[in-house]
Amino acid sequence: MPNASTDKPSSWTTLDLVKWTAGYFKDHQVESARSEAEILLAHALKTRRIDLYLNHDQPLCEDELKRFKALIKRRVQGEPVAYITGTREFWSLAMAVNPSVLVPRPETECLVEAVLPFLDDHAGSMKRVLEMGAGSGAIIIALAHEYPEHHYVAMDRSAAAVQTARQNARTHKVDHRIDWFCGNWDAALLPDRETFDLIVSNPPYIRSRDINGLQPEIRNHEPQIALDGDGDGLRCIRHIIESAHRYLRIGGLIALEMAYDQKNDVQDIAAEAGKYSAPQIIKDYSGHDRVALMVKKGLRPHTNFVI
Ligand code: GLN
Repeated sequence: MPNASTDKPSSWTTLDLVKWTAGYFKDHQVESARSEAEILLAHALKTRRIDLYLNHDQPLCEDELKRFKALIKRRVQGEPVAYITGTREFWSLAMAVNPSVLVPRPETECLVEAVLPFLDDHAGSMKRVLEMGAGSGAIIIALAHEYPEHHYVAMDRSAAAVQTARQNARTHKVDHRIDWFCGNWDAALLPDRETFDLIVSNPPYIRSRDINGLQPEIRNHEPQIALDGDGDGLRCIRHIIESAHRYLRIGGLIALEMAYDQKNDVQDIAAEAGKYSAPQIIKDYSGHDRVALMVKKGLRPHTNFVI
């Protein structure tokens, strides 16, 4: 690419640049080279991806070229495209992201999808939903966006994450439906109140020793505290399963994202806790076990006592 320093038109059109950058990204082992080239060029031009093709023969000015070149450099140095543009779509909603939060993954949409039937209450009763470790807020915001009639509570131990999530909730006009708090797992919850109907979480579940083997984009840029599930990867999942029943009403549901190979462990942990029905495991779109659903067992207290 030529050096660029003025706002004179260059000889590069948008289509030339998409093609050139896709090839350059491919040479630098960037996955989804063409689509990432389009996303970054659209971002540099402050336009939509479709407009790149509608104006395919439009020449870029030197300033635009310079801006784009800086983005290309950041991407080939390993920065995830979502952190460069500051946004990632989740559940068809644009979520602001930054290095204090995990970039929302498509497979996490399976967690949202799995709990929707539970929130779809024809009787019209308001449900209380808690998300533990909300990160960017993608899950709780998607749920509140689908079912604004329920009441939502979300926490994260990172203040920067809570700030990002609140910004996203405001963007999608659900902030008034969600109470936020910053703290460690259940530190701010009153035990034994059993008030929630649903607890959702995509906790850190990668084994510590596997972190180094992750793609450099993830390993070097995404927050480790959102990924690292300790020695066996199950520390947070175990903590949630062992403690969540204290905040969940009888018949309430826990929905957890987990790694593709954690099904047996999650089933064992749930069985050992002795408070839940056998977990139902749901696969993601790639056919991997991804979501565990478990219902809190128990006898409902008598509500109408007739003499
Ligand atoms: N799914 C994420 C990954 O593969 C991990 C998310 C998590 O630990 N909760 O990197």
